[in-house]
Amino acid sequence: MTSAKDNAMRRLLTILISLLVLAGCQSASDQPEATLILMGGHVITTERPGATALAISEGRIVAVGDDATINNFQGPDTKVVNLEGAVVVPGFNDSHCHLYGLGKALSEIDLNGTGSPQEVVSRIAKAHLEQPGDSWLQGRGWDQNDWEVQEYPNKKLLDDAVGDRPVLVRRVDGHAALASSKALELAGITADTPDPDGGQIIRDADGQPTGVLIDNGVGLVRAIIPSVGSDEMARRVNLAVEHCHRFGITGVHEAGVSWGRVQYYKSLADAGKLNLRIYALLNDVPETLDAGFAHGPLHTSDDILTVRAVKLYVDGALGSRGARLLEDYCDHSGHRGLFVTDLDHLRSAARRATEAGFQVGAHAIGDEANRFMLDVYEELNNSLKPADARWRIEHSQILSPADIPRFAELGVIAAMQPVHCTSDMDWAADRLCEDRLPGAYAGNTLLKTGAHLCFGTDFPVERVDPLAGLYAARTRTHADGTPIGGWQAQEIITGEQALELYTAGSAYAAFMENQLGIIEKGYYADLTVLNGNPVTCEPAELLEMKVEMTIVAGEIVYQAP
Ligand SMILES: [Zn+2]
Repeated sequence: MTSAKDNAMRRLLTILISLLVLAGCQSASDQPEATLILMGGHVITTERPGATALAISEGRIVAVGDDATINNFQGPDTKVVNLEGAVVVPGFNDSHCHLYGLGKALSEIDLNGTGSPQEVVSRIAKAHLEQPGDSWLQGRGWDQNDWEVQEYPNKKLLDDAVGDRPVLVRRVDGHAALASSKALELAGITADTPDPDGGQIIRDADGQPTGVLIDNGVGLVRAIIPSVGSDEMARRVNLAVEHCHRFGITGVHEAGVSWGRVQYYKSLADAGKLNLRIYALLNDVPETLDAGFAHGPLHTSDDILTVRAVKLYVDGALGSRGARLLEDYCDHSGHRGLFVTDLDHLRSAARRATEAGFQVGAHAIGDEANRFMLDVYEELNNSLKPADARWRIEHSQILSPADIPRFAELGVIAAMQPVHCTSDMDWAADRLCEDRLPGAYAGNTLLKTGAHLCFGTDFPVERVDPLAGLYAARTRTHADGTPIGGWQAQEIITGEQALELYTAGSAYAAFMENQLGIIEKGYYADLTVLNGNPVTCEPAELLEMKVEMTIVAGEIVYQAP
């Protein structure tokens, strides 16, 4: 039996509980329970100097402050990480790279750092033994500039090692490759094959192909290599994403993606399995552009995948003398490099992209290639008057000094890779003569004109490590500190600038500066935790610095062992 007194008590309790729940809701809307709290560290955020902690909920930063303040966001399900003095920076975002290319490279024979053609061959011979059969062997990373005799290798080396097996091993920049005799045979390349447009088949004194192919010459062989299945594609993407996480990379701009791969990324994103923020630039191939433009820009609701840009190719690279220059190569008179794409096609593709609401990012390395693209953008500014085009020139490597102010004037972002400078500086003067060096790899001069820049690596052309990029930007030296004082030292930038270009600069280039690239309330919780301060440390310390943790959209995706 329940008495009236019991009923009254029960009613009172119900009211009390309701009040408590209401109070709880009230505080929840002001101060949501965090899914993740980082505390006891040093948070690099310009708006709140001295911050030691931050709280994250639903993939975003909900508060930045001192430990006591942030503690208020702790609830029963909050994961709390004590940073023990580690430094939190906005997540590194590589604004020009080839994610799938990295995955492919990680699944291929690694020829980086080979000191001689013999070393290249011995690594290939090893793979030949480990993977017997007659399937294609592929590799990447050789660089004849690292060898004692700085000459292109010959296919005989490969034939001696693997016999009648098709082999294609690309140079470190991907713009040249060495093919075995079997690979040439399968591709139908003989002494009678003419050089393709925008490419070259290198021949010996007797006119026979040596196996070395340049730019679109490489494409002749690549076109006949059987494509991989979906399992292998997934394996490669996984390898690449994990590799990025280990280096503290939370987001990438992938320069050159097929519409098919966009669909694959989208399926990962929809299943909640994409844990790297991808900003994709579509490949300039008809099926991809037609499909992309018909669909229009693509954003997932959590911005983990964005597809609203197009990658165009104007010229080749400096190392293989494919970069298109205004004057002859210093070490090859009569040769000015190559335009790798028909110029009318570039103009019309840029126009179509702009009309379809896509940003244009054009690969241009030589000064003539850069000038051509600046002219295209100027024309489109005048004719289409886009409100916020954020044109990009990928690499922006060798500029005529007269063209440098045009980046800021026309609103062109220079998407640069500081490690390209330090990789190329030992031989850049051979290619360019001293007189063209002042406009080469001129990041600081561009910044001073008010141009927007963003940083990346162009991996797998270069190593993924963003700390190596910060070091290169701050020193313009090799890891051993040479040349003393830095190559073209007027282009050295500060630690603060370098970090900003690797984070906020990349966010701006992806139209995400209000969501990404700084550590502030409301921004996506893409964060990198380091065991040192990359802004205030001595540059040499960057080379020893370790990534302790990588966080993408509030999820810890990597933790140092
Ligand atoms: Zn690239």
